[in-house]
Amino acid sequence: MVPGGVDTLVAAGHEVLVESGAGSGSLISDEEFAAAGARIVETREEVFGTCDLLIKVKEVQPEEVELLREGQILYTYLHLAPLPELTEGLLSRGVTAVAYETITAPDGTLPLLTPMSEVAGRMAIQEGAHHLHRSCGGSGILLGGVPGVPRGRTVIVGGGVVGLNAAKLAVGIGAEVTVLEKSAGRMRYLDDIFGSRVTTLKSSAVTLAASIAEADLVVGAVLVPGAAAPRVVTREMVAGMREGGVIVDVAVDQGGCCETTRPTTHSKPTYVVDGVVHYCVANMPGAMPRTSTYALTNVTLEYAVTIANYGFEEAVRRDSCLRPGVNTYAGRLTCRPVAESQGRDY
Ligand code: NAD
Repeated sequence: MVPGGVDTLVAAGHEVLVESGAGSGSLISDEEFAAAGARIVETREEVFGTCDLLIKVKEVQPEEVELLREGQILYTYLHLAPLPELTEGLLSRGVTAVAYETITAPDGTLPLLTPMSEVAGRMAIQEGAHHLHRSCGGSGILLGGVPGVPRGRTVIVGGGVVGLNAAKLAVGIGAEVTVLEKSAGRMRYLDDIFGSRVTTLKSSAVTLAASIAEADLVVGAVLVPGAAAPRVVTREMVAGMREGGVIVDVAVDQGGCCETTRPTTHSKPTYVVDGVVHYCVANMPGAMPRTSTYALTNVTLEYAVTIANYGFEEAVRRDSCLRPGVNTYAGRLTCRPVAESQGRDY
C-alpha cells in the first residue's frame, strides 16, 4: 500500500489500518500513511484481528496463519502450488484468499505480474552491466563502448515483458542488442517499436548458439505459461562464451532457461561456471522495494477498492478478472492448478 491508496480507500468511506513500520522498506513513513488518513497500529495482531480485507505483498507466513479469521478476505501474492501447509492453513481458517498472480485479464495476461517483470527486466541490464566490471569477475567490457571502441553485445532470450524492458534499458545505455523470440507476432512488435536499434531473431538451437557465442551479456527471459522454463541455453553454449561474460537468468523463478542456472539470493547473487558470471536471483524486484511497491500498488489498488466498495461476492460478479484470482473461498479450494499440484479436491 502507498499513501495515495490509503487516501483513495478513505475517500470511499473505508477505515484503513496500517501496521507501524509497514512502509519503512519502501521509504514510506507512518506519518505519510497517517496524513493520508490511515490509523497506525503497533502490532500485526491488531491488523489481522480487526480487518475484513487484509492487503499484503508476500504470502502469509507460518506464524501469521493462526491470526487469520473466518470470513476474512486476504489479498496478496500467494504462489500456493508448492505450499501445501499454507493452503491447508488458509482452508482450515475459512479464509477467502485472492492471489495477485492469478488475477487474469480477458486476453489471458496477468496484470498483477506485469509490473514485477518490468522491474526485473530493467534491473537485468543494470545488474548485468555491473557484473561485467572486472572487480565483479566480469570481462571489463563497457556495454555502451566509447568512441573508437566497440559496444558490448547484449543477447536477450525471450521478448515478452521482461525481454522488452531489458531491451529498452540495453538500447538506452548504447549496447548492441539482439532479442531471440519464438513468436513471430512478438518479433514484429519489437521490430516496430525499436526499429534498427534491436535485431530480432527467431529462437532456435542454431540462432541461440551463434548469438550467445558473441555475447558479453545474456538475459534469460523466456516463459512458457504454466510450465518450467525450457532450458534452451545449454552448458556448451555457456562454455563457448568469452571469459567474464555475464548471464542474468531472470527466468530462474521458473527453473531458469540456462542449463547452468541455480537460484541465488540478494546477499550472494552470483556464482561462476566455465568463467561466466551467473546472476540468478529469484526475487529481483525485492532489491528495489520503493519502485516495486509503487508499481505494484498502481495495479493492485483498483481490485482492492472494488472488493472494499462492493463486498467480495459482488466484486467478483462485477470484475471478471478477479474470478481466477480467487484461490480459496470460505474454506474451499477454488484454484484448479493449486488443487492439481497438491492432489486436492477442487
Ligand atoms: P512473458 O510471457 O511476457 O514473455 C515470455 C516470452 O518468452 C514470450 O514472448 C514467449 O514467446 C517467449 N518464449 C517462449 N519460449 C521461448 C524460446 N524457446 N525462445 C525464445 N523465447 C521464448 O513473460 P515475462 O513476464 O517476460 O517473464 C519472463 C520470466 O521472468 C518468467 O519466468 C517470470 O516468472 C520471470 N520473472 C522473474 C523475476 C525475478 O525476480 N527473477 C521477476 C519477474 C519475472
